[in-house]
Amino acid sequence: MREETYLRIAYMALEEGRDIIGPSFVAKELGISRPAAQEALLKLAEKDYGDYIAGKGFKLNVRGVEKGKEVTCKHRLIECLFEEIGLEAEEACREATRIEGFVSRKAFEKLRESFYHRDHCPCGKEIRL
Ligand SMILES: [Zn+2]
Repeated sequence: MREETYLRIAYMALEEGRDIIGPSFVAKELGISRPAAQEALLKLAEKDYGDYIAGKGFKLNVRGVEKGKEVTCKHRLIECLFEEIGLEAEEACREATRIEGFVSRKAFEKLRESFYHRDHCPCGKEIRL
């Protein structure tokens, strides 16, 4: 999984009022091991997307929030695309998670042109963040 996905998980947690996320939370959300999740969060802090507070977890900074917001929007637009070709919301989310870190700027723009007018992604979350 790429850093984009971890940033999205952190941003979505923030949307739900959770500003610090620990490795266990990320591990559960993404179905990965706790050590892998911890390593990913430490890497986000290293790359200046936020701070890792020992014993508590990771907290996004302003730069991390902006990037997390962008990836979350991208994720939801990709979900719309997959829904359009017949996938259920849950499958669309899974597939979007697999590719969200690899979509080019140009493809992102095309996704925006096609689906940004929608209010919600297939799972009912806001697209325009
Ligand atoms: Zn969704």
